Amino acid sequence: MSLSGRVALVTGASQGIGRTCALRLAKDGATIAVAARNQEKLNELAAEITAAGGKAAAFALDVGDEDQVKSSVKAIIAQFGKIEILVNNAGITRDQLIMRMKRADWDAVLQTNLTSAYLVTQQVITSMLRQKWGRIINITSVFGQMGQAGQANYAASKAGLIGLTMAIAREVGSRNITCNAIAPGFIETAMTAALSDEFKQTAIKQIPLGRVGTPDDVASAVGFLASDDASYITGHVLSVNGGMLMG
Ligand code: NAP
Repeated sequence: MSLSGRVALVTGASQGIGRTCALRLAKDGATIAVAARNQEKLNELAAEITAAGGKAAAFALDVGDEDQVKSSVKAIIAQFGKIEILVNNAGITRDQLIMRMKRADWDAVLQTNLTSAYLVTQQVITSMLRQKWGRIINITSVFGQMGQAGQANYAASKAGLIGLTMAIAREVGSRNITCNAIAPGFIETAMTAALSDEFKQTAIKQIPLGRVGTPDDVASAVGFLASDDASYITGHVLSVNGGMLMG
């Protein structure tokens, strides 16, 4: 229970990687605020955490909406007193080749994947400064490091998250707040479920560990970066990609 007494906010927690990260941080003893748009799924998750002896509450919000972010963070702090761990995980894809990419799909991906991290971090940082302890963990992607055809919007948003991570790490390092990114490779979730088996088999050939990753693979890295064991790590991009990109 290394995170006992800590309060964490996980965005995009209604399913997939975010849900598994919330469960992991709860298992490690943290109180969890779970956030996403789907209230029903969030309620189920909060109930699951509570039933297992943890403490959690659901906050429905669109992470790209400044007013909703402000009011939700206020509500979380009113309920739990503070936020010390932030996992900026909410994300979407709207894939298309650049020639055909609609402005609306560019804007939606940048808003949900990148602007959201700016908005949520800005609202949460004061609480971390007060606690003189903080962990910001941004979920980027291997495609923010190497690009991917058909994902100019997604790759740009995820590369942007890496720059944001390093800038924030420099700004708040002296206040005992770390800011790191995790770059998952190919993880089995709803986001990748739509890909064809042929695409998946080709992708697996590029992965030295020979398998796709699981949400638990990512949650383990989140648990580590949130812990005191990671207190001298900041501005880092931790790859969780089975070796798909090295160097
Ligand atoms: P997922 O199953 O599609 O989950 C995405 C989560 O983001 C959902 O909980 C969704 O909840 C939430 N979300 C989307 N738009 C939102 C919004 N406007 N406001 C609030 N929440 C929003 O995808 P996943 O695979 O778990 O992905 C999680 C993160 O990991 C993403 O940032 C993704 O880019 C990244 N990632 C995934 C992979 C992979 O292979 N799966 C690889 C690298 C990086 P609601 O719909 O309820 O809002």
